[in-house]
Amino acid sequence: MQKTSLSWKAAGLSVGVVPTMGALHEGHLSLVAAAKQQCDRVIVTIFVNPTQFNNTEDLTRYPRTEAADTALLASHAVDVIFAPAPEDVYPLGFASQVTVAGVADPLEGRFRPGHFAGVATVVAKLFGMTLPDRAYFGEKDWQQVQVIARMTADLNLNVALQICATARASDGMALSSRNARLSPADRAIAGQLHPVMRACAQDLIQGQATAQIVAKAQKALIGYGFEKIDYFTYCDEQSLVSLDHFAPNGRLLVAAWLSGVRLIDNVAV
Ligand code: AMP
Repeated sequence: MQKTSLSWKAAGLSVGVVPTMGALHEGHLSLVAAAKQQCDRVIVTIFVNPTQFNNTEDLTRYPRTEAADTALLASHAVDVIFAPAPEDVYPLGFASQVTVAGVADPLEGRFRPGHFAGVATVVAKLFGMTLPDRAYFGEKDWQQVQVIARMTADLNLNVALQICATARASDGMALSSRNARLSPADRAIAGQLHPVMRACAQDLIQGQATAQIVAKAQKALIGYGFEKIDYFTYCDEQSLVSLDHFAPNGRLLVAAWLSGVRLIDNVAV
């Protein structure tokens, strides 16, 4: 992979990478489209990274649809699908880890211990393997973008990060590989998440206190049938420090459970 990428660069071509865990949907394809538009060569990586799963059941149940993914990417004319085996990514003796402090600590960091160390390590490795000029990530995983931006700057990785808007279904639900695990009835309940967030955004803009709004939203979600809410928070979109009232660069971030499936979403407010 490195040789291919280096040969492209030697020929003066720009290289973009879209890191994914497969089970591709329109959200991933919007990243691929952006990469195709901005880069001469596009690599899509498919790797279900075991070290970022803090829950073995989530890893085992993670959808794997290699044949469909390959067919989908063929119709988008990407240059390379790079799908390494776990033992090639983590060979015997592998002993390094990238950890990011600060922005990786709250929210997902708190509820999924070790998750961002897994993400930061594999993204650093994927950058090292694919040697891209640009890398494409989705706003859908907002905190992940902040962690990767911190790591890329801190480690002088010389990759320009391109952040793409969240692709949504017609009811506003953020597209996600994990949505495939929801029954039709649960998918209908899940569709309430985004409207509840939009309503919160309106209340925040009108000046209501965050604590009040969040309590109301959590109650509404439980009423619709969500089992548990890991967090429903309004915070500064870069530092992820909580905000008690509307502020410029604020963002609502949510993680909630429905029938054993953990859904996350975020919106700028
Ligand atoms: P994943 O395969 O879930 O690890 O996601 C791979 C990349 O696609 C990450 O940068 C995600 O943020 C991005 N992504 C996932 N879902 C969406 C979506 N609905 N809209 C835009 N990007 C997404």
